[in-house]
Formats: sequence, C-alpha cells, structure tokens
Amino acid sequence: MNYFSLHYNSKPVSFDKAVIQGLAPDRGLYFPESIPTLPASFFEQMEQLSNHQIAFEAIRPFVGDSLSEKALQDIVEDTLQFPFPIVSITDSIATLELFHGPTLAFKDVGARFMARCLSHFQTTNSEKKVTVLVATSGDTGGAVADGFYEVPGIDVVILYPKGKVSEIQEKQLTTLGKNIAALEVEGTFDDCQDMVKSAFIDHQIINEVQLTSANSINVARWLPQMFYYFFAYKALKNRKEKLAFAVPSGNFGNICAGLMAQKMGLPIAQFIACTNINDTVPVYLKEGVYTPKPSEQTISNAMDVGDPSNFVRIQKIFNKDFHKLQKELKGYQFTDTATKKALQEIYKKSKYIADPHGAVGYLGLKTFMEENPNYYGLFLETAHPIKFLDTVEKTLKTTVPVPQQIEAVLHKPKESHPIKDYKDLKAFLLSR
Ligand SMILES: *Cc1c(COP(=O)(O)O)cnc(C)c1O
Repeated sequence: MNYFSLHYNSKPVSFDKAVIQGLAPDRGLYFPESIPTLPASFFEQMEQLSNHQIAFEAIRPFVGDSLSEKALQDIVEDTLQFPFPIVSITDSIATLELFHGPTLAFKDVGARFMARCLSHFQTTNSEKKVTVLVATSGDTGGAVADGFYEVPGIDVVILYPKGKVSEIQEKQLTTLGKNIAALEVEGTFDDCQDMVKSAFIDHQIINEVQLTSANSINVARWLPQMFYYFFAYKALKNRKEKLAFAVPSGNFGNICAGLMAQKMGLPIAQFIACTNINDTVPVYLKEGVYTPKPSEQTISNAMDVGDPSNFVRIQKIFNKDFHKLQKELKGYQFTDTATKKALQEIYKKSKYIADPHGAVGYLGLKTFMEENPNYYGLFLETAHPIKFLDTVEKTLKTTVPVPQQIEAVLHKPKESHPIKDYKDLKAFLLSR
C-alpha cells in the first residue's frame, strides 16, 4: 500500500516511509491510495476470531510489504495487551472503555503500535537516530512517552502547555526520563503545536535530526484506532438494533479511524462527533463552512482543539461530498456545564463514573438517540476518570479509586525543561 499527500505535491511512499516521515515533504497528511474492503464472511464469522487476529486482518492491507506477516503479528500482539470492555449504562446505551492501557488513555493503542513499527523500521532501514517530536494537550504525551520508553534508536521530545494539563497527565510525561524529554511551554496547546510545525520545516533542524511526529497525523498512530470499532462490533453483532458510535473528538483522529473501518465494510450505521465548545467541526456540519479558531480551555482538555488536523482526512474519505458527509456524520457540541450535568446523570442512572470526555460523548449520543430511537448506542470512554480527578470528584461528590498504573507515577519527581518560544525549542533540539 502506498500513501499520498493530501497536499498532492509529494511523491507517494510506502507505509514504512510514511511512518518515518510523519508528514509528507509538502506538509500534507498521508492518506492510503485505496481503502481495502474486507469480505462479508469476515464480519459474519468475527466471533470465531481473537482480537489479535481481527486487528491483524484489519491493518494488514495498510501495512503492505513494509512488514512481514510474522513481524506484524508480533507488533499487533505486543500492542494489544489489555481488554476493551463494554459496560452497559441503560437498555439502549453502553460505554466502550478504551482506558485499560498502561497510561489509561485510548491513545495507548496507537502510540504502542507506532513505537513498535518505528523501532522495527529504524533497526532495519536507517543509521540515523529518529527524534519523535510531539505536542500534547493532555493524553498524547503520556501515551507516547510510555509507548516509546526505552525503545532503541528513538528519542522523544514532548511539548506541553504549562499549567494546562492535569497533575496526573503531567506526571505521566515528566517522570520517565531516559529517552523521553518533556518541554514545559509558557503558552497554550496551539503554541506548542505551532512550534512543532515550525521545527518540521526548519532546514537547519531537519538537516541534523530525523524528525517524526507521533500525533495522530502519523498513519501508524491513526490507523490502529480502527481496532476498537472492530472489537466492539464483534461483541455486539448479534443485537437487532443498528449501531451508533459517539466519539469524543479533538483532533478527530479516532473518529476518522472509525470512518475508515466503516469504509472497509464494518457494519456501523452511524458515527456521531462530539466536542466541547471547540466546535469547529459541528459548526461545519451544520453550516458547511469550516472556520478554524483558537482553542479554548475546557474540563475536557484533550479535546481543546480549534483546527482539528484529521479533518482533511475525513473530507477525503467522503471525497469532499459535503451532503454525504453531513448525512453520515452527525456533530454536536456541549458546554462544561452540560458536561458536568451529564457526569451526574450517568452516575445517577447506573452508578457509573465517567470522565468529562466520555460525558461529552454520552451527551452527543443522547441527543442523536432522542431523534433516532431505534439504535443501540455506544459512547467511547477515552480516558479513565482518575485523570480528571478534580472535576469528577467535585461534580459527583464521591472519590475515584486510584488504579495501580497511576499510583506508580504519582510519587516520582517531575523533570521538565521550561521553554518560552521557538528559539528555545530549536536550541534544545540541536543540542541533543
Ligand atoms: C486525545 C483525546 C481525545 C480526542 O481524540 P482525537 O482522536 O484527537 O479526536 C478525546 N478524549 C481523550 C481523553 C483524549 O485523550
């Protein structure tokens, strides 16, 4: 499988090249030259397959010749070392828990898969050390830090906005050390992302350092997110109702992977994009005009994104047919006040403690199902509530038990490098 740039100004490359480069040389996102479909029999007999087998079949066509069958099998198995349970909330609504990985974020799957691919390509293809440069508004940093920790031949540099990620999130990215460096930026997430973008086009830097990105722009982080939807379908395929998935969205990588799974033939009837007040995409779906804007801070901070980078991929999946997209993708936005009320409502209904991102998903699902009652709906729980402890405990007036993955990092000392502007970042990268 080859990947072309969505700016249409670079040569198509194989999967391994796309993973190593992150972005195409023309700064466009990579997109697969075709979206393969899986045979109907695969979906019909899915319950006879293990999650590892399903994931292998789903990702194999996208990897092409870049990995041997054996290497890909090993990577898939090593990546997927935790469960993806479905917990029922009401008769027609359940949540798909994606937070059972080592950093309690759904991003663990993509980060672990990408780290293992990159390490494989690195040792077989190149002499140069790769530096993964990534900006985080919350969970990306922790998942990437953990996924790449002690991976040979790879350095990781994470930028995060000072004071704007939760304490646990900060600990997860600043306590590992070794090949993981955390840069604490005087500014917002958008500032971090802008600095990362500048580094990627800075000739002085790219001459000296092989940079790649571990944001969901990287195909190896983006595509494995299809797995959740396959696994959920396997668990629910005997239900009579049509399936709707509500996805709390920020950079729109996760939902875009879901839409790819649907294109491959996975029988999911409806996708619902759910955002906080950073509502560029829901507004677009309503009005047909895409107007990126600066991000605003909310209690679901991993979704504080004003210009979602994967939106162009979603447009490509629908070949820029706005009316088709509008029909097949619903979008809703919610305030922090509504999100807190939803946390309380979910808790009252089923004693389930959601996190603010999951609660936004729940709200989108509920809004959709009020008009479309014949569905069985899932909202994705993208992070464990412990990561948003303050909000959750204050809103629900209860305590959240600390999982052992978190217990371990809370007592480690934080190590970060404060930086103010792009000049500082450049100096840091060139000094390594
Ligand atoms: C990253 C993240 C999101 C948003 O996912 P995208 O793929 O960027 O849309 C939602 N919730 C949590 C907890 C996250 O960490």
